[in-house]
This record gives sequence, C-alpha cells and structure tokens, in this order.
Amino acid sequence: MSKKKRNIIILIVVLALININYLLVFCFLSPSLKLNGEKELTINVNSEYTDAGVQAKYLGKDVSNDVVLTGEVNSSLEGEYILTYKLNKGIMKKEIKRKVIVKDMEAPTIELIGEQEISVCPNKEYIEEGYTATDNIAGDITDKVEIIKTTDKIIYKVKDASGNETTKERNITYVDNEAPIITLKGGNSYTIYLNEQYNEPGYTAMDNCDEDLTNQVIINGNVDNTKVGKYNLNYEVSDSKGNKASMTREVYVKEKLKGGIVYLTFDDGPGQYTADILNILAQNDIKATFFVTNQFPKYQDMIKKEYEAGHTVAVHTYTHNWNIYDSVDNYLNDFNKMNEIVYQQTGTYSKYFRFPGGSSNTVSRKHKVGVMTDLANVMTSKGYTYFDWNVDCGDTHKDNTVNYIINNIKKYVTGEGSYIILMHDIKKNTLLALPSIISYLKNNNYTFRAIDDFTPVKHFKIAN
Ligand SMILES: [Zn+2]
Repeated sequence: MSKKKRNIIILIVVLALININYLLVFCFLSPSLKLNGEKELTINVNSEYTDAGVQAKYLGKDVSNDVVLTGEVNSSLEGEYILTYKLNKGIMKKEIKRKVIVKDMEAPTIELIGEQEISVCPNKEYIEEGYTATDNIAGDITDKVEIIKTTDKIIYKVKDASGNETTKERNITYVDNEAPIITLKGGNSYTIYLNEQYNEPGYTAMDNCDEDLTNQVIINGNVDNTKVGKYNLNYEVSDSKGNKASMTREVYVKEKLKGGIVYLTFDDGPGQYTADILNILAQNDIKATFFVTNQFPKYQDMIKKEYEAGHTVAVHTYTHNWNIYDSVDNYLNDFNKMNEIVYQQTGTYSKYFRFPGGSSNTVSRKHKVGVMTDLANVMTSKGYTYFDWNVDCGDTHKDNTVNYIINNIKKYVTGEGSYIILMHDIKKNTLLALPSIISYLKNNNYTFRAIDDFTPVKHFKIAN
C-alpha cells in the first residue's frame, strides 16, 4: 500500500469518526421538540383559540417551559397565523412551527317573516311577507338576499363575504278552500208587523279570493206579511272555486200589540156557569185557562169541552178543602186525583196548576207550618208549574157586583205587560161581567192568551 492510499483511508476513518460524533451529539445531546395537536389547523373566526403547546425534552428531561413562543392568533381576524416555538438548550437550537388559519366558516342565517307554508288565492300573487338575513361577521345582510321564484316556492339565498351560503324556502300553495262570508244587515232575526212591508235590510258577501260577491247572492224564500208566522230567507253565494256559503234570516211577522197580554183564568169549576162562559169565549175567539176542581162532579164533562175548545186545562184541587195542606202527602193525593180526572177528560195530564188560596196563603199554616214552601219545591221538582195571578177581578168579595168586577179589571189591567186575571167560573156575576170585560180589553188592544210554556210566571212570595 502506498503512503498516499494509507492517508486516504485514514482521512475516511477520521471523517467517519467525526460523523459518528455528530450522530452521538444528535442522539444524546440534541433536545427534542414536538407539537401537541395539529401542525396546521383551521378555526372559525371569533372562536376562542387555545394553543395546544409543545413538548420539549433535553437529555431525558422535560424542558417545555424553556420553549419560547413567537407569533399569535387573532381569532377575530381572518388570516393565516404562524406560531414559532423555539428551544435554546445545550449545544443545539431547535424550532418548530404551527400554522393556524382563522376563517369564517359560519353561514349566515335567514329568518322568514310569516309562515313557511303559505296558501295564496289562485287568482293572486304571493306578496312577500319579508325576511331578514344575518351574518356572524357582517351583521345584517338582508339586502344581499337573492330571491328566486318558482311555481310553488320562493327561494331565499344569501352568501357572506367568505362564500358561506344559506338557502331558505317558502312553500306556496295556490288554493282557495275558503267559502265567502255572508253578513246580514239588520241581523239574522228580523221582525215586521202584520201587513207591514218587508224591505230587505241588505247583506254583503265577501270572499277571501274573489273579494266582493254581494251582487251574486241569491235569496230564496219569501215573507207573507199578511200572516203571522216565522219565515226563512236563505241567502246563498259561491265563489269562483265553488266554495259555497249560506245564511238564513228568520223573519217574524208579528201582531202589533198596543195593549198587553191578558190571561183570563177561571178557578173552582167546572160548575153551572162554565158552559155559558165557554160560549162567550168562543164567540169572541178567545182562549183562556181553567184551573179545575171536582167540587161539582156532574159538570166533569165540561173539562173535556174546555180542552176541546182549545183552552188550557190546569189543576186546581180535587176537594178544595183546606186539609189538603195537612201534609205534602195529603196535597199530592188531592192533586193527583184531580189530574187523573183531567187525564180522563182530556187524554193528557196537566203540568200547570194553581194552589188553592194561591202560593202565598197563610191558612195553610194552621194545617202545617212550612207546607207551602215544601209543596212549591216538591211540585216544581216534579216538573209542574204553578201560576198565581197579578189581577184579582174580585168576584169572591162580598160586594162582588158586576160593576165591581168590571171596574177591578179597568183599574188593574193598565197598558203593556202580561196580566193573569183571577176569576171563578162558578160565580154568576163573573159570567155576567165577562162580555163587558172582553169588549173593554179588546177595545184597548189587549191580546188574549191561554197559559202555555211561554207565559210569564206570576208567583207570590210564599208566606208559609
Ligand atoms: Zn179556588
């Protein structure tokens, strides 16, 4: 081997040794520096950035605290930020970098004013109800919203400066399911008086889509102003989609009453004058009410006559003896016996009655204390209605002359209102006074009625 060759070999060996030294230095003397977390990451603008830090070791020892960080992330400003971690330890310096990208990743929001599902009349266009668009960076970007109309949708689109896009849709259904609305002027119930002309008070028909349909309303029915009664007028209209509406007006043709309403009521019969009284009532076409008894059994069939003539037959008492007030049972026994006769004569039981002496009598107190209160409750709960009176013709007074009776009527029947007049069809002077009473009341425009379910009940204050 030449000297030259040997020198080359020595040089290679020396260089190798130097390299090994370097390796040793790298392996044992060089610090290690590693990133925690990602080397490159993207965060949303305005979100909080927390650096994950680094891990640094030197000769097996944690020297992370010796790492110096330069650079910072401004998370409220979009951009790329480089963070540099430097370690200056031992014979080697070391540094690593991290890239943090701050970016707006949040899309704007669109809020619709009004419903998302909207029905629109087929003959109309959807009128925008409004919307707002808000971006996390730019704030209100409503004016950037782009609107696209399709046949059944309104599409709202908006993009922020970073290209984040939001789309919202409103669905439009073109439909008309709504019927028009008919409004009757003058009300759904209307009254005219006999022979007064019915003048249509008017109406309107409005439709959600077709607007005013008033002139397409058809009225069916008619009013006969020459006959008392209730007449229905039907108002009908359809919109262009066939949705129908109808309304009914009830027109009442009524008798004009100048005076009040008079209920002639006859107690204590039937008796010897009942037939004549029925004749007078028939001649005058008047219906009255008979509170019947069985005091005169041979006139029992008059009850049937009263009923057949259209008068109201009501129960007074079987015996007309005060001992019916000895007990509730006594009373009921007497009452039921009388109502049984009513049933035999008329085929129907009466639900109307009048207490002997009226509900305010105090005679009953001698028989049983509190019996009237009990009876009023018991009878009412059984479905019976009792009637007292508000005018006494006075035919049971000791001075019951014909004139006295007539004058009582003139004195106590005065003007509008309803009058239940107490009379007795077993009194001769009542029979004699009756034609004058009727003509007086007729001349003063009073209307005669028999007691029925519509009669205003007159009740005295119970005194026992
Ligand atoms: Zn009586």
